[in-house]
Amino acid sequence: MSARDWIEKDFYKVLGVPKSSDAAAIKKAYRSLARKHHPDANSGNASSEAKFKEVSEAYDVLSDPAKRREYDEARSLYGSGGGGVRPGARNTGAPAGNFSFDINDLFGRGGGQAGGVGDLFGGLFNRGGRSAAVKGEDLESEITVSFAEAAEGVTIPLRLTVSETCATCHGNGAKPGTMPRVCPVCAGTGTTSRNLGGFGLAEPCAECHGSGQVVDQKCPTCAGAGRTSVQRTLQIRVPAGVADGQRIRLKGKGQPGVGGGLAGDLLVVVHVTPDRLFARNGDNLTLTVPITFAEAALGATVSVPILGGPPVSLKVPPGTPSGRTFRVRGKGARRKDGTLGDLLVTVEVAVPSTLSDEARMALEQFAAAVPGDPRAGLFSGVGDTA
Ligand SMILES: [Zn+2]
Ligand SMILES: [Zn+2]
Repeated sequence: MSARDWIEKDFYKVLGVPKSSDAAAIKKAYRSLARKHHPDANSGNASSEAKFKEVSEAYDVLSDPAKRREYDEARSLYGSGGGGVRPGARNTGAPAGNFSFDINDLFGRGGGQAGGVGDLFGGLFNRGGRSAAVKGEDLESEITVSFAEAAEGVTIPLRLTVSETCATCHGNGAKPGTMPRVCPVCAGTGTTSRNLGGFGLAEPCAECHGSGQVVDQKCPTCAGAGRTSVQRTLQIRVPAGVADGQRIRLKGKGQPGVGGGLAGDLLVVVHVTPDRLFARNGDNLTLTVPITFAEAALGATVSVPILGGPPVSLKVPPGTPSGRTFRVRGKGARRKDGTLGDLLVTVEVAVPSTLSDEARMALEQFAAAVPGDPRAGLFSGVGDTA
């Protein structure tokens, strides 16, 4: 429905009531027409269906004081129907674009009280109103995953408290059966003007706090706020390879927008618990493995743990220096494309802190048997360039 459609439609005529009707008269007219044209009573009758839709649409606007005011204003601005849009006319805030709804879907839900035509149209009309659309706030939360979960990727449920439009009053803050009325102080504009010696200063109306409406009987569920806090559980997909402190942004999962604004985002800070053995280096995992001097010198096959799988065998060739790094392919962290990085194993010669007599004797024999000084090259030509 376009803004122009809106001003061209005579909702009073649709409901068969005079323009001066009060809320009760409008409600009464609507009820009688809705009953008459209800799809349940006229199944397959296309003209009834169209009429029902028309009546619901008219009622949705006329039953809401803010929308009705806007509607009346728009029609008086543009003349009642047919006229073109006046240049420079203010935006009426009527929703742009087409809308359609499936009547079967609407009434197929067991005829319960929840939901219904009011909600449906309400959602449309609330988009862009008198006040500018405001994007919902971003929410921030945090989760902690283990090192292994961060390497592999994991989906974690996250409970958070968000505010939602109150289901009891549908956001208008009024007790069911009552309606907010137009603020008498600002006449519904939400602002009042203060004269400051020659120029007026517009400020938010103190009576209605800028909403343009006054609620006499507050909704018992939300105490007039129009919003309630609910617990929501979201499944957070933590991508493989996430780093400690990284943020995941979930678009539109923050606080809902105001006046038809977009919902904010949810930012989840991921904490990664360090692992006792493994560390990350890009897609690769790193691991330090102690070996004995004999294994380094003579060569050995050592068993090496990997993340999330059975240990693998690593062949340490004879004469391996302490600190050499070996690459075990495909045992690292998961990449974005699903493949695995490598495990980088650094061997470190472990020096025993105590020696048995037998070991000491063996080492002394070894020392005597190894000729040469490993530091011989350190002192010849100190200061030479490499
Ligand atoms: Zn409420
Ligand atoms: Zn006010």
